[in-house]
Amino acid sequence: MFRSVRGMKDLYGSDAEKYHFIFTRIKSIGERYGFSMIHTPLLENTDVFQRSIGDETDVVSKEMYTFLDKGGESMTLRPEGTAGVIRAIVSENLTQRFPVKYMYCGEMFRYDRPQKGRFRQFRQIGFEYIGDKSPYTDVMLIMIASESLHSIGIFDFNIMVNTLGDEETRENYTKAIVKYLSRHEESLSDDSKLRLKKNPLRILDSKDKQDVDICSMAPSILDYLNKESRQYFEKVCTLLESCKIKYEINNFLVRGLDYYSHTAFEIQATGAGYREALGGGGRYDKLLPIFGGPDVSGVGFAIGIERLMLIIKNGMAFREPVRIAVIPVNESENDFAFKVYRELQECGIGTDFIQTGNLSKKMKTADRLGSKIAVILGETEIESGIATIKIMDSPETASKNKSVSISKLAAFLKWNIEERTRSC
Ligand code: AMP
Repeated sequence: MFRSVRGMKDLYGSDAEKYHFIFTRIKSIGERYGFSMIHTPLLENTDVFQRSIGDETDVVSKEMYTFLDKGGESMTLRPEGTAGVIRAIVSENLTQRFPVKYMYCGEMFRYDRPQKGRFRQFRQIGFEYIGDKSPYTDVMLIMIASESLHSIGIFDFNIMVNTLGDEETRENYTKAIVKYLSRHEESLSDDSKLRLKKNPLRILDSKDKQDVDICSMAPSILDYLNKESRQYFEKVCTLLESCKIKYEINNFLVRGLDYYSHTAFEIQATGAGYREALGGGGRYDKLLPIFGGPDVSGVGFAIGIERLMLIIKNGMAFREPVRIAVIPVNESENDFAFKVYRELQECGIGTDFIQTGNLSKKMKTADRLGSKIAVILGETEIESGIATIKIMDSPETASKNKSVSISKLAAFLKWNIEERTRSC
C-alpha cells in the first residue's frame, strides 16, 4: 500500500468543499478590488527563489524542495507565490502599464516538520499589487486581507504591522543589530552566529528559544527610521485608524524573507482552536529589478488555506459584476476620497481608488480597469457634499455629468449596479 508523502495531504469530501469555498469567496474579494488571476508553474529555476527570498532565510536554506532535472539544471518546487508571480510579470512583459494587480492560488512546498496547520505541501491564496508605491496601497492590501477573512466568517484575528523602512534605514538598523548581537554572540544558536556575518536581520526570525530571548531586548527599528520611512509608516498607521482597522505594531516582525521594505504585516489567529499566523505580506522595492524588470515597487500578501480550513464553516460564493472608480481631483483630496472608497468597499461595492497622474490620466486608468461609473471628488465636491458622477458606458454618457450627494453615494451606486445586473 502506498501512502501520500509525509506532510502532503489528499484533499477530498468536506475538506475539498472548504477549499473551494475559501477560494471562491476570497477570489470574489480580489475581483471587487480589481485583481485578476495569474497561474504560474509549480516549478521554477532555483535562482528565482534564491535571489529574491535570500540565501540566509529558513525558506531557502532549509525548506526548499530542490533537485537537478535530467538536463542538470537546478529546479525548485515553489515555496511561496510572490517570486514566481513577479518573475512572470517581468518575463511576460506585463510591465508596460501600471498598476498591475494579480492574485494567485495554489500549492506551495516547504520541507518543514509537519504538525497541526503545517504541511510540506500546502496552499496559499495571494495578492500582488505592483506599480503604486503609496501607504494607500499598503492599507488597501491589509483591507483585502482582513475582508478576505471576514468573507469566510473569520473574525478572531490580530493584524500585526511593522515597517522595515527603506534601504538607508535598513543599513543603519542592521549596524545597530550587529552591534547589539555581537555582544551576545557566544549565546546565539549556530545558525544565528553564521547569520550575524551574512544576513543579521534574519536572526530576528529565529525560533531558537535563546535567540528569541536575546532578540526581545534588541534595538527597535522605529528608532532608526529616516524621515521618509517614518512619514510613510505614520501614514500607514493613520490610514488604518481612519479605516477603523484594528492593528498592533510589532517592531520585530521581519517576515522571514529578504525582499521586504517599508510595510510588513502578519495576521495571527486569536480564536480558541488555533493561534498561529494565517497570512502575511508587505511591500517590496527591489524585487522587479532582481528579475530584470523596471525599478518599481509592489506590495502583496498570502494567506494559508489549510490554516483557514482548520477554523471555518461552509458557505456560498458570490460575485460583484460592475466596477466603480473613486477619483480625487488633486492630491489634497486623496484622504477624503480614500475614506469614501473604504466606505463603498465596506458596502460591498466593487471599487477602484485611483490617485496617480492628472485627472485625464486617472480617467484613462479607470477606463482601463473596467470602471462603469466614476465618482469624482474635487475641492468643490467636498465643500458642497455633492459628488460628480460620470457614467462611462460611452464617451457621450461620460460627457454628461451627474450630481449625487456623497451621503447617498452607496445607495445610488447599489441601485445602479442592481439595475445593470438585472438588464444583463
Ligand atoms: P509565509 O509566506 O511564510 O509568510 O506564509 C504565509 C502563510 O502561509 C502563513 O501565514 C500560513 O498560513 C501559510 N503557511 C506557511 N507555511 C505553511 C506550511 N508549512 N503549512 C501550511 N501553511 C503554511
